Formats: sequence, C-alpha cells, structure tokens
Amino acid sequence: MNPARIVIVGGGSAGWMCACLLAHRWKAKNVAVTVVESQVIGTVGVGEGSTPFLRDFFAELGIAENVWMPACNATYKCGIRFDGWSERAGFNSYFHPFNTELDHSGAVQFFKDCYARRMGYDLSPVPDDYFASSAIAKEGRTPFARISDGSEKPLTDYGYHFDSQLLGEFLKKHAQALGVAHVDDTVVDVERGDTGDIITLQLEREGRVGGDLFIDCSGFKSVLMREALRVPFISCRDRLVNNAAIALPSSHTPSNEVNCASDKHSDNRWRYPTETLAEAKPNGWMWRIPLTERWGNGYVFNSDDTSFDEIERQLRTQLGSDSDAFSARRLSWQPGRLQRHWEKNCVAIGLSQGFLEPLEAPMLRIIQFSCERFIELYEQEGATATATARDEFNHSVNRLIDGNIDYLQAHYLVSARTDTNYWRVARTNDHVSPVLRCLLLAWRGQDSFDAALNEVKDALVYHKTSWYCLLAGKGEFGKAFRHTPAMAYHPQCRFKEHNARLARQCTLAIAG
Ligand SMILES: Cc1cc2nc3c(=O)[nH]c(=O)nc-3n(C[C@H](O)[C@H](O)[C@H](O)COP(=O)(O)OP(=O)(O)OC[C@H]3O[C@@H](n4cnc5c(N)ncnc54)[C@H](O)[C@@H]3O)c2cc1C
Repeated sequence: MNPARIVIVGGGSAGWMCACLLAHRWKAKNVAVTVVESQVIGTVGVGEGSTPFLRDFFAELGIAENVWMPACNATYKCGIRFDGWSERAGFNSYFHPFNTELDHSGAVQFFKDCYARRMGYDLSPVPDDYFASSAIAKEGRTPFARISDGSEKPLTDYGYHFDSQLLGEFLKKHAQALGVAHVDDTVVDVERGDTGDIITLQLEREGRVGGDLFIDCSGFKSVLMREALRVPFISCRDRLVNNAAIALPSSHTPSNEVNCASDKHSDNRWRYPTETLAEAKPNGWMWRIPLTERWGNGYVFNSDDTSFDEIERQLRTQLGSDSDAFSARRLSWQPGRLQRHWEKNCVAIGLSQGFLEPLEAPMLRIIQFSCERFIELYEQEGATATATARDEFNHSVNRLIDGNIDYLQAHYLVSARTDTNYWRVARTNDHVSPVLRCLLLAWRGQDSFDAALNEVKDALVYHKTSWYCLLAGKGEFGKAFRHTPAMAYHPQCRFKEHNARLARQCTLAIAG
C-alpha cells in the first residue's frame, strides 16, 4: 500500500530530492506527488558539499555524472582537509579520506602506527601518508584512472561539490519529468482531522491542497512538524557550540590554482582541488569549496561569542578582492533535532528535522537516508501498521543524527588550539555523550581503542578509519615518548610512495 496523494512542502534540495525519490520508486503505483514551495521565502541557498552517498542517489535515478555535474557546476571531492585545528608540531594539517577498499592495507598500517604512537614510540602517523584519496587530492586529480581499454574507472570512493541552487533546479526539472506537480505558494494554515492527521494545507493564493501523506521539507521554518504538529525540538547547543555562519562566494583567480609539480595543463581552464578545505580560524572555522565557476566559502562560528559584522570582516579580509562582487548570506540556527521525524501522517526531511553544523557535510546524507528509510518502512509495514514503522523510522534517524553529533563534537574536544577563548571553551566542554566519553578515554589511556569502538558500535555512524583520522590527525597523543631509540618501532612507510604513484594515474581535475 502506498499513499495516493503526497504533498511535499518546500522546494530546496530536500524537497526536490524527496520528490525525485518518491516519484521514481512509486512511479508504477499511481502516486500523485505535489511540491508546494514559496519562492517568496526562498531556499537556504547553501550546502555545497556531499559524502559518497550522493552517488547512490543519482545512480538510483539513472542520472549520469556527465549530465548532472556540468548542470550544477559540480566538482569531485576526495575528502576533507583540516587545516589549523591543532597547534601540535607536525599535526597542523591532515586529510580525512572517504572509506575505500583500495586503502585496506594502508588503513591497517595506519592503525598499527597509531597504536605504537599511543604506546609511546617516537613516530607521527598523519593520515595523509596512508590513504590513496589524500595522495589523489594532493596531486589535484580526480578519483578516476584511465584503464587499458581507454575508459576511466574510479580508484577510490568520492563525493561531490556543487552549487546548491543549481542542484535544486536540476532536481526540480527531473522531478517534473517524472510527473511531480509544482505549486508556487505559501502555506499559511494547516487543517488537522480528529486523529490528529493533517488533512489539508491552506495556501495564501491557491486555496487548499489535500493529501494522504505530507512531507515537511520547509527548512528551518519546519512549518508542519514544529509549527503545526508541535513536535518537540531537542537542542544540542550544550555539545555543539556553533549556531551561525556567513556564506560568501568568491571568484577563481590564478593564485587559486592547484600547485602541482607534474603534468601542468596548458590551456586556461581551472585546475581545481578535489577536497573541501575546513580551516580553523580564531572564532570558528572556514570552509572553502571548489566549484567549476567559483569558490563557495563560509565561516562557521558562535554568534554569542563573535558578531556577524566581525566574522564578515575576517572573511572578506581573507578572500580579498575575489569576493568583492558577491554579497554575503548570514545564517543562524539552533543546533539540534526533532524528537520524532515521522509524526501522524507527516514526515520531516531536511533542515526541518534539525541541523547540527556544516562540518563534515552530513546533511544531504541524512536527507537521503530519511527518505529511503521512510519508503522502505512504508513498503514493509503499509499504512495500517505505521505505528511500528514510525517508531523504527524515528529511532534510526535519531541514531544517525546522534552519531553525527558525537563525531562533530570530537573535532572540537581534541582540537589543540589555545589562541582564543572560542577554542579554549570548545576543548573543555564536559557535556559529552557516554559513547564519545568511552572512545576518548580509551584513546587517551592505554586501552584498546578497537575494543572501545566495538563496545559502542551500535551507536557509531563514522567508520573506524574516520575516528583514527580525527584523533591522530590532530595529534591527540600523549606528550612523552616512553621508548628509547634502541627500542624503536619501524613503521612501513611504503604507502606514501605507492599512493603517489597511484594518484599520478588519475586524471587531472580540470573544470569544464
Ligand atoms: C551554513 C550551512 C552550510 C551547509 N553546508 C552543507 C554541506 O556542505 N553539505 C550538506 O549536505 N548540507 C549542508 N547544509 C545543509 C543544507 O543546506 C540543507 O540540508 C539543504 O540545503 C536542504 O535544505 P532544505 O531543503 O531542507 O531547506 P531550504 O533550502 O531552506 O528549503 C526550504 C523550502 O521550504 C519552503 N518553505 C518554507 N516555508 C514555507 C511555507 N510556509 N510555504 C511554502 N513553502 C515554504 C522554502 O521556500 C524552500 O523552498 C548546510 C547548511 C547551512 C546552514
């Protein structure tokens, strides 16, 4: 059984992603999907980085990269570079790669070397030396290598960078081609029946829209879930301190070129970096995302600690004249999530579910997961058993979001900056979940970190490799080396060279 009429409120990335997936999965079932969006209100207009999960989304819809990527000014993303999060010598910068089969041996060596370092041997295991993706990004290449038959195949997993506005427009066209109806109007009232289910939405100009199922993709406004259904919001501000950002694009200039020693390209096209840069700043951190036509930049911070004006000043100083032609977008949010994401006949997907912060770019994954899980459960349980389906849905979405909170908070707790009050406060926050406490205690002590990961595995969202990268990458090791040079541990350093060779087989990342 599936609902006959689905009404989605919101035409941002979340609304159109859901519209595409629902119309695609249930196309043979005569489902009428309508998106109501208010162009007067507009979309949040940010969110330009993804994880590899987005590949599955496009694959499922049967949309090839050479179709959607140029339409969205998209580039490849091998991972995230964290610069300046640690003042510890040798640990000023590290790369967080996406998990890839090819890196299995490198990862095993990395874990061993981290263990040796934690036990007091004198070595500095930085993730960059072990993972193919970091070598590929360092060389300014895409994850694709040319193989013997002349075609290209990806060596590692990867995500994307894209213009969020263009992505929304692209998905809108695709959804409309799948038969999704579109109404440009504002929801001003919500009518509920005796059971509490939503029956109709009152629009400002177009009258009423009725439905069997409503998807709230209305962004931070959360028009259906928070406003109409009054689902409680659980703040995690005590754990994640940032609640604001300024997004400010900038243009490419020659100084932005990837500095790559070999294989310099000869034409004027832009060689872009295949990584997101997350650079720690005195009052937060700054993202830098390469798109084919411009940079996406932003500064994430705590607005109780620093004003928007001051952050914009810092951002514009850093970007120089490249940002002169662009206006800044100021955004604030309360970090946290809904208590329930499926309530009555309404499901919240996207910013209406809550938002943590932009670090690690997990939101599109949460959107995709929520939409897919909902469809799966609805198909399994059917409308008659939705109480069970709802509980399962709410549990699995909350688990995903809470697992993200742990990983995001860990970035701040092990950051080793002491230059400003912002970082001193971020490092000493003692509102920590039992899961994160268990992991940090094990890592900092002489306990087996793998045993700790295993103990909390049901709550973990990030892979073992990601946890090791985060902790080792910032140099979160005890101060003293306990072993004498005579007892030296000899790491196998072969991965760095091997990965550099692999990287050079990959194609140059050139826009256009
Ligand atoms: C600073 C920042 C950086 C981010 N970076 C990333 C990132 O790198 N990667 C990532 O995955 N995510 C990121 N995100 C999250 C990402 O932007 C969103 O998850 C994504 O854009 C989806 O947003 P949305 O569709 O839920 O909301 P929106 O884009 O805000 O869309 C809401 C829609 O609802 C409509 N609407 C609202 N009220 C009404 C009403 N009453 N009637 C009718 N329509 C209405 C609006 O018109 C709009 O169409 C970031 C978010 C922020 C704030």
